[in-house]
Parts: sequence; C-alpha cells; structure tokens
Amino acid sequence: MPTDPSALPGRRALLRTGLATGAATATAGLAAPTPAAAASPADRTVTLTGLLPTGAPDFVLLPVEVPPGVREIAVSYGYDRPAVPAGTPGNSCDIGIFDERGTELGGRGFRGWSGGFRDSFALSASAATPGYLPGPVNPGTWHVVLGPYQVAPQGLAYTVQVTFRFGRPGPAFVPHYPAERARGRGRAWYRGDCHLHTVHSDGRRLPEEVAAGARAAGLDFIVSTDHNTSSAHGVWGPLAGDDLLVITGEEVTTRNGHWLALGLDPGEFVDWRYRSRDGQFPRFARQVRRSGGLVVPAHPYCPYVACQWKFGYRDADAVEVWNGPWTYDDESAVDTWDAGLAAALRESRDWLPALGNSDAHSAPQAVGSPHNVVLADDLSRPAVLDGLRAGRSWIAESAAVGLEFTATGHGRRAGIGERLTVPADAPVDVELTVSGVPGGTARLLTDEGQLHQETLPATGPGTVRWRTTASLAAYVRAEVRHPRADGTPGKGNAMGPDLPWGPMAALTNPITLHVQQ
Ligand SMILES: [Zn+2]
Ligand SMILES: [Zn+2]
Repeated sequence: MPTDPSALPGRRALLRTGLATGAATATAGLAAPTPAAAASPADRTVTLTGLLPTGAPDFVLLPVEVPPGVREIAVSYGYDRPAVPAGTPGNSCDIGIFDERGTELGGRGFRGWSGGFRDSFALSASAATPGYLPGPVNPGTWHVVLGPYQVAPQGLAYTVQVTFRFGRPGPAFVPHYPAERARGRGRAWYRGDCHLHTVHSDGRRLPEEVAAGARAAGLDFIVSTDHNTSSAHGVWGPLAGDDLLVITGEEVTTRNGHWLALGLDPGEFVDWRYRSRDGQFPRFARQVRRSGGLVVPAHPYCPYVACQWKFGYRDADAVEVWNGPWTYDDESAVDTWDAGLAAALRESRDWLPALGNSDAHSAPQAVGSPHNVVLADDLSRPAVLDGLRAGRSWIAESAAVGLEFTATGHGRRAGIGERLTVPADAPVDVELTVSGVPGGTARLLTDEGQLHQETLPATGPGTVRWRTTASLAAYVRAEVRHPRADGTPGKGNAMGPDLPWGPMAALTNPITLHVQQ
C-alpha cells in the first residue's frame, strides 16, 4: 500500500522563481578534517537557509558551487514544524540533488532523491546513500532541490548543510544489473509483484529482504519500483537468479498521482517533476514505451495528498486496480476500470488490462499480496511485459489461490485476456475454477454488470459454469470475494448502506466476446 503521506517522497512541476533561490543565503564554515582526508584540504561546509511561504513552487532549486578536488558531497537538512490547527497541513519537505549537468526536466543531471524519508545523504564515485547515484563529483554548479509538498500557514524555514570532503576519488561504483531472463518453464503462468519498495526510497527492507520475501511468497518475478530513482537497479544482479526474475522499474511519484514505469532499461531514470496541467506526462510515457516498458497508473484513488491519479488513461498501458490489502479505494479503481472496458471495445481500441500489486514498503506489509499471474512465453522481461500488456493475467491475493477461466463457443475457446469470435447467438459456455478461497463468492460480470453469483465450496476447489452469447455480453470477467465480516456472501445486485462485498481474493482480466460477421 502507499506509504504514510508524511514519508512520501516529493514530486512537483519544476518552477524556477526568484523566490526559490533568492530566499537562500549561503555562508561558509570550516569543519574538522576527517582522518581519511588527513592529507587533503579540510572539509568545507556551506549552509543554506531560507523561508518558503505557502504557495512556494513545487521544486525549489538551491545552487551549490562545487569546487575542484571534491571526493564526496554530504548533505543534511532540516526545517521547522510550527504548530498548526487540526485539519491544516503542517510542514513537510522532500530533498534530492542534481549535478553540474543541470536540472532540466528529463535531463542528465539527476543524482538522487530521498523524498522526505532521510534527513541526510552523501555521494561519491564509489558509493552513495540508497536513493542516490554514485559517480563523478565534478566541479561546477550543482543544485540541492527541495520539494515543499506541504507548507504550514507560517511558512517553512529550512536549513541545508552541504559538506565537501576533498581527496582523490575512490574506485568507480560498478552496477550489477539483474539478468533479462530466468530459467522459466516455457509458455506458462508466472506469478509476479510489479510494485515494491526498498531502502532505495521509503521502504525499510533491503533489496535482499525483498528478494527473500518474493521467493517465500511463491513468486517467479518482481519489478523494482522505488520512488523517483533508479539507484536500486544496480544492486539486483546477485539477488536475482534462475528461480527469480527481477525487472527494473520506477514508481514515478508526481504531485498529481503515481505511475509505475515497468521494464525500464537498467539504470534508466524517468522524471517526475510535472503536474497534469504541465502537459509533460505523455513525453515520459513515450520514453518508457521506447524502452519496451509499461505505463501503469498506481492506486488511482489513494486518498493521501498528491496520490490521486489526474493524468487520465489515454497514455496508460494498464492500471493498478488492486494495491495492497483490499480497501475501498480499490473498489473505486475496479469500477473505473470496468467502465472503460465497454467503451474501448465499442471504439475498437485496446482495453486497459488490470494489475494488482502489494506496494509493500516494510513489515508487516507482505510482498506478493496481491500479485499478478501472467501467461508469458518465457520468464523474461520482454515476455512477462508482453503478457501483462495483452491482459493475459489475473490477480491473486496470494499464491495459495489458483484460478482457471475460459469461454467456449462455436468450437472455439478463449482464455483470460483473449477474444472469442462467434456467431451472435451461438451459446458461449463460461467456466471458472477456483481453489484456495474456501466459502468464497464467485461473481461473473459483463458490460451489464453482475449476471451470475455462486458460493464456492467450504473445502477444495469449486467450478462455476454459466452460459451467455456474444450478442448478450461484450466481455465476461470474474471476481472471487471472501465472505463479508458477518459471514454472508455479499448482496449480489442489491443496494444498501453497507459495502456489498467482502475483500477481493482474485480478479481476472476479461475475455472479450465478438460477433462473427
Ligand atoms: Zn504510490
Ligand atoms: Zn509504491
């Protein structure tokens, strides 16, 4: 699930204003040399202070002149937290850094971002704080970037300290990217969680702990999606293996919603500093597609500040309708997704596949709950992405849930994400087999809504059969729900003041039905 908003990394349109840098003052001070730098000039610390009013730009650029001979840059920051009335946002401010190559949107200067999760970081040629990119510390104008995403009525008074440690650079960091392919079983159903965080953004798990969690959850693949950085990509190599494919990605965390860039080239970074009104999102969606990746709006109805999806779905390849433990915002996401299916079919457009992911950050959030089960030609980055792009997948709350879903008619058969073309009135037999959801409720839904509901056995798998035609249903999809808290199966097509359904246990992408001309 999304992290607590007070720890969310920041995101905002890049706006340069006089207010931003003009409010900063720089003073130089001296600090004691570290023993390692005994033969080098003393460390030097620059202090930047300023006051940001409400209405400060999404990103505030603080220029820092880096002199020659710097081995490591270390940054720490803090800001005041004045008391505010209940219901009024208090101060929170993100931070990151860009090097001498500049701060241009989508440019090459990005060197790391830690959102609001850390109050200090350092980087050098050999190493960097997670979230930051090791590499050359070249002289020139760098920028510490602040992201004040909530500013109290009193304003936000910040202090940033930048320490230069001098000396010869250490050996260059060598990234170990994960392999593109794991052993796999040929064309088969593979289980994978496409939304996971580590210490490289605001998670508390090390990458090795996420990899262990994925294996324990029975997953075949994961996608690494730390917020607004590619810094984790270079550590996954030795953690992947024949039994676990690791795909590199990013959770692009903007002020107008979060999106998953799934299947980036290792080391590739996607900029996040724009809002919907800036018109920049399509450009970055294209960047991801050029790399063979998928653009997936995440948790579109999450109520946290800046988490609701405001970019529309025209540039999306799929949508995350189920994020972590089942909650009411997931119901909204499924409803919006379902409403788009019939519209896409009417306009002969590709319909948007649904994904489900854990978004696990830290214990007790479980890696793989939920995850996608995708039919792929191989356990490789391109094959898994192809399966997800085509919607040949369903969502399981855990690997304990098994499911098969087919539609058969006129001597033809189609599975999840596939199309069945039959004469308008030819009988189409829909069959759903579920295991691992004792006493669950199977629902079959079409463009008319729920047309069949059946309770699954208390023990063992259950099979549900139902007949329709292509003239009656543009598509058919399945949901499996747990019983409600009071033990009842759910209210079918009835209406009332309470939630009609228990938590989701499994959800399929649709099988589309087409009338043979
Ligand atoms: Zn998110
Ligand atoms: Zn996330």
